[in-house]
Amino acid sequence: MILKALDSLPRRRNKLWKLETVVDTESSSHPLWNTFQLDLEKVTNLEGLTEVRDSYLGRQRGLVALEMRKLGQFPPSERPEAGRVLNELKNAVLKALETRQTELKKRRDESRVREERIDTTLPGYNFKTGGIHPIRRVWREMEDIFVRMGYTVVVGPEIESDHYNFEALNIPKGHPARDDQDTLYINDTLLLRTHTSPVQIRTMEQHQPPLRIIAPGRVFRRDSVDATHSPMFHQMEGLVVDEGITLADLKGTLEVFFRELFSEETRVRLRPSYFPFVEPGAEVDISCIFCGGNGCRVCKRSGWIEVLGAGMVHPRVFSMVGYDSERYTGFAWGMGIDRIAILKYQVDDMRLLFENDIRFLSQF
Ligand SMILES: [Zn+2]
Repeated sequence: MILKALDSLPRRRNKLWKLETVVDTESSSHPLWNTFQLDLEKVTNLEGLTEVRDSYLGRQRGLVALEMRKLGQFPPSERPEAGRVLNELKNAVLKALETRQTELKKRRDESRVREERIDTTLPGYNFKTGGIHPIRRVWREMEDIFVRMGYTVVVGPEIESDHYNFEALNIPKGHPARDDQDTLYINDTLLLRTHTSPVQIRTMEQHQPPLRIIAPGRVFRRDSVDATHSPMFHQMEGLVVDEGITLADLKGTLEVFFRELFSEETRVRLRPSYFPFVEPGAEVDISCIFCGGNGCRVCKRSGWIEVLGAGMVHPRVFSMVGYDSERYTGFAWGMGIDRIAILKYQVDDMRLLFENDIRFLSQF
């Protein structure tokens, strides 16, 4: 029904025509009608329309109301006709205002829809996604290699006692090794651990051999921050204790590990060194992963890069945890996770790993 009614309307979309229609259907012979129509034509928004409505239909000062009041001045014979003409004017004005209001509202709604429309063709925002920090990434990779070799991951407290951090590791008070490690003390007996080695003591106290563990974690030293130092860094400690463990096992283990971590071509060499808790002790180098051992800037033309300290567990350490040092032998090593990350990702400044600048981190 409605569709049919719409179809029967003339297909003209001229707004002026609409106004004319209003005039044609509802009009008035009163002289104010023409003035009203001119005023109405000037209206462009709903506020303007209210003003026109008030000036014509206002109860007190509206022009139509004023005309009504003049009715009494007409001779009685002309009064009914004058009243009819005025009523006609009032109705025509009402009708015209209503039509115009509908039109203006529609126009306002249309422009609002236009302004508020969402352009679905615009490219969307990219949400920033997190990634795994390079230290944690290397940490996991290192853990993974050792776990596959049958190692167990153990952890210990970061706040340690002097006993576990030094004494039990064959570093008694007054030992020069205590000076090497600028320790951050909490009080006379507590400190922030300077290495992850206390974890091997704690583990050996609770478990009998055979033992095959790695202990990763944060360690602290009173170092100033520069390209190669940080007061907080990460270490991974390894310990194997069993009957008949030799230095060859240590070297073989590290070879397998570094070949897995870097490449099949990586070679490992041990240089004699000293650490209080091992005997013999060794510095461990790997063939330069950048030049393959030919010599470059990173390895200072030597073809080798120092990566960790290791050795055979000192019999005195064993006796302190109650192991029979005649029956058991073992090896231990400790390496910096940050140092490995620096080598693996070829980062030339350790500070980059701790500043957590998103521009740096997003490269991994
Ligand atoms: Zn090199």
